[in-house]
Amino acid sequence: MRVCVIGGGVIGLFSAWYLVRSGHEVCLVDRNNFNEGASHGNAGMICPSHFTPLAAPGVIRQSLKWMFDSGSPFYIKPRFDPDFIRWGLQFFRKANRRHVKASIGPLSALLQWSSSLYRDLAEEGMDLSLSQRGIIMACKGQHTLDEESHIAGQAAGIGIRTRILSSGEIHDLNPGVRFKLTGGVHYLDDMHLVPEKLITSLKADLSGKAEMLSGIEVTGFHRENDRIDRALTQAGEIRADFFVLAGGAWTGKLARMAGEYAAIEPGKGYNITIPEANPQLSTPLILVEDRVAITPMDQALRLGGTMELSGINDLVLTRRVTGILRAIESCLPDFGMDQTSVLKPWFGFRPLSPTGLPVIAPLGRLRNVMINAGHGMLGLSLAPASGKLLNQLIADHVRGVA
Ligand SMILES: Cc1cc2nc3c(=O)[nH]c(=O)nc-3n(C[C@H](O)[C@H](O)[C@H](O)COP(=O)(O)OP(=O)(O)OC[C@H]3O[C@@H](n4cnc5c(N)ncnc54)[C@H](O)[C@@H]3O)c2cc1C
Repeated sequence: MRVCVIGGGVIGLFSAWYLVRSGHEVCLVDRNNFNEGASHGNAGMICPSHFTPLAAPGVIRQSLKWMFDSGSPFYIKPRFDPDFIRWGLQFFRKANRRHVKASIGPLSALLQWSSSLYRDLAEEGMDLSLSQRGIIMACKGQHTLDEESHIAGQAAGIGIRTRILSSGEIHDLNPGVRFKLTGGVHYLDDMHLVPEKLITSLKADLSGKAEMLSGIEVTGFHRENDRIDRALTQAGEIRADFFVLAGGAWTGKLARMAGEYAAIEPGKGYNITIPEANPQLSTPLILVEDRVAITPMDQALRLGGTMELSGINDLVLTRRVTGILRAIESCLPDFGMDQTSVLKPWFGFRPLSPTGLPVIAPLGRLRNVMINAGHGMLGLSLAPASGKLLNQLIADHVRGVA
């Protein structure tokens, strides 16, 4: 079967990768050179530790507190946009304990499956710079450490290994770096990699096995009742038996072009990369109070975070970037403003679904279109399992439809 995958981020690439392995003829289309999306500059963390969906009870309270502060870790730009309001209402309905309880099992299973697939890829020799030193949820205050320790207890209940660390033990795991922290929780099964290397390796592996169309934007579809038979582009039409929409934060737009609705909102985040960090961290950290991630990537160190719901735009809000750097300076004085102020921030858009769970499913009433999107803050972590699951669902769907 000929399958056209639209979107060449980590989700589209892994979708294509498993489809090729199942013997399908695959055409992968990206409007840039597979380097525009969130998959390129993200924090590189693979986190089975993040087993609760974003749509959770505390998030609404916290976001209302932060809503009008553009320097806070989570910022919503007030705006009248019917799609955003519809998305917001769906999110609001899901932000409850029942949803969290129902989501932990499937989300955790997908995360753990993905982690084992990454380990397999590294063992097969794929160049990812995969490191299995875990990730530390680092806490400035005792109250936060108590909360994180409680979550660690829940994690143990679903088979995730953790260890509570004192400030000294965090230092032992990162010799040569100074910390101002109370302690943390070490998630031993978390990992990290260099996202740019992953993308390059997947692209290299696919070239020759799949048709890779870069610099081509899908601008519409030709729909006949409940089927799409062509994707329309300025460079001509792309015919296929099956279509996969993996356009990240742009997937809602693609769905509309196909005459359907998909609730995906962009959640902007920023990163700064110090190319040669000295001293260097050995184990990645997440500063819990400030929601900032710090990841060593070979010689480089990537610092980033924040969630901004302001639509898709190119604006860099300096206050938000400064907020990240101040948070780092307060806990890791070696990586303060002096080292980072000259570096240019990168930003990307997390594709957020209102449930906080990825959407890997048929699109609306269409019989030959599936969506693989909405992975939010966990797209890198979830990508291999999402690609493999999509591949299985397509096989089942085609059998059911035929
Ligand atoms: C600051 C930041 C840090 C993050 N850190 C982590 C982390 O540590 N761990 C983790 O698991 N996740 C992390 N994420 C989330 C993760 O990066 C995303 O969930 C993931 O990259 C989404 O992948 P994607 O393939 O769905 O989308 P993208 O990577 O955005 O790719 C979508 C692609 O589709 C293409 N496209 C869109 N429309 C069209 C069209 N019409 N025609 C052709 N092509 C089109 C785009 O050009 C783009 O290349 C982070 C995100 C951010 C912003």
